[in-house]
Amino acid sequence: MKYEVVVIGGGTWGCSTAYHLARMKRSVAVIERGYVPYGQSGHTSAIIRQFYVNPATARMARMSLEFFRHFSEYTGYNAFFKQTGMLAISDDVDALRRTVDVMKSEGIKCKIIDKDEANLLEPSMTVASDEVVAYEPDAGFANPVATAVGFSRAAEALGARIYQGTEVLSIEAKSSSWSVRTNSGEFDCEKLVVAAGTNTPRLLSQLGMRLPVFFLPFPVCYFMRPEGTNSAQRVIFDTVNNYYSKPEGDQILLGAMHSEMSYGETHDFALPENMRWSSCDPDFTGRVSYDTASAYSAGLAARFPEMSSARICRDFMPYIDITPDWEPIIDNASSFGFPSLYLGCGSSGHGFKLSPMAGRLLAELVEYGESRSMDTSAYSLSRKALKNEQSEN
Ligand SMILES: Cc1cc2nc3c(=O)[nH]c(=O)nc-3n(C[C@H](O)[C@H](O)[C@H](O)COP(=O)(O)OP(=O)(O)OC[C@H]3O[C@@H](n4cnc5c(N)ncnc54)[C@H](O)[C@@H]3O)c2cc1C
Repeated sequence: MKYEVVVIGGGTWGCSTAYHLARMKRSVAVIERGYVPYGQSGHTSAIIRQFYVNPATARMARMSLEFFRHFSEYTGYNAFFKQTGMLAISDDVDALRRTVDVMKSEGIKCKIIDKDEANLLEPSMTVASDEVVAYEPDAGFANPVATAVGFSRAAEALGARIYQGTEVLSIEAKSSSWSVRTNSGEFDCEKLVVAAGTNTPRLLSQLGMRLPVFFLPFPVCYFMRPEGTNSAQRVIFDTVNNYYSKPEGDQILLGAMHSEMSYGETHDFALPENMRWSSCDPDFTGRVSYDTASAYSAGLAARFPEMSSARICRDFMPYIDITPDWEPIIDNASSFGFPSLYLGCGSSGHGFKLSPMAGRLLAELVEYGESRSMDTSAYSLSRKALKNEQSEN
C-alpha cells in the first residue's frame, strides 16, 4: 500500500495530523494498532485550559481552544466542548501572577480574583489567607473520544484511510522513502509521521534514535458526589492540595497535579533513571493505591468541606510521556539524519487540549518544511532542555 504520508498512531495527535494533511490534499493513512483512540487520548481527563507560563504553549492552547469552539464547523463532528471556566488556587503568589501575566500578554482572558469573587463562582470553596486564586473563564473540557473520532472521520471524508487493528512491527528508512511493516501488510510512503504516544521512543529506537522522553504514572480517580452537593462545577487546579478536578454529572474526576506542567520552573527538574522510557513498559496501566485516593479525597474535602463524604468509585493510572521541560516534541528528525521523518510525542500531560494545533503544526512541517501557524522552536528536538538527555539517554 502506497501513500504520500503515513501517520503511526490513531490518538488525537495522529488523527488531527491526518485531518490537516488531508485538507492539504495529501494522500495519507493512519495506522493504529487498536481503535481510535486506544491510547492516552482514550483515557485523558480532556481538560482544555490556556493556563501556561510558557508563552508558546499558552498561544498553542489559545489557538487550539479556538478550534475546539468551532470543531463541528471545521470537521462536521461534535467534540462536545463544554466551557465551565477554571479556578487555579496556589500559595505561590509570584508563580501564579507570572502565569496570569503571560496569558494576558498572549491575549488570553485570565485574572487574579479575591475570595469573595471566587465564592460567587464556587460558593462552598475555602480560600486561606495565604492563597491566591486565578480565574480563566474560557477553560472547560471536551469529549476526547468524540474529538479523536471526529478528526479521523473528517480525515476519511477528505480521502484519508484509517487502518485500525493494524500494528506497526518495524520501520525501515529506504533511500527516498519509508517502509512500514505491519501485522497486515507493508506500507510505503515518502514521509512518515510518528505520533504513537508512549510507544514512540521504543518504535524509533529501531532507527538508533534515543528520544529524551520519560514516563510518569498519571493517576485518575472518580468520586461520587454526596447527595445534594453542587461544588466544583468548574475545572479546579488546586496546587495547594495537589489535585485537579472536573465535574462529571453525579461524579467528580480528580487527577494528579504537577506544578511543572503549567506554571512551575522546570530548569532544575531532575527525572529519575527509572522513569526513562527504556526502563518502562509503554503499555503499563496501573491502579491508584488507596493511600493516593485518600490523599485526593482529603485535598478535595479541604477545598470543598461539603465534599468530605465523597466516595471513590473508580480509578486508573496509565503513563504519560513527558520531556525534561514538560513541553512536547513537534519536529522533524533531520538532526538524527532522517529529514522525512516527523515526530509528535512527549506531550507531557497536556496533549489533548493542544491536539488541534499539534496536528496542524505537524502537517505544516510535512507540507512546507516548517510550521507556519506559529513558531515551534520551543518544541524542537534541538532545544537546550533536551540536548543533555539526547546524549545521555
Ligand atoms: C490520565 C490522563 C489524563 C490526562 N489529562 C489531560 C487533560 O486533562 N488535558 C490535556 O490536554 N491532556 C491530558 N492528558 C494528556 C493527553 O491525553 C495526551 O497528551 C494526548 O492524549 C496524547 O495524544 P497522542 O495522540 O500523542 O497519544 P495517544 O493517544 O497515546 O495515541 C498514540 C496511539 O498510537 C498507537 N500506537 C502505539 N504503538 C503503535 C504501533 N506499533 N502500531 C500502531 N499504533 C500504535 C496507540 O495504540 C495509540 O492509540 C492526560 C493523559 C492521561 C493519561
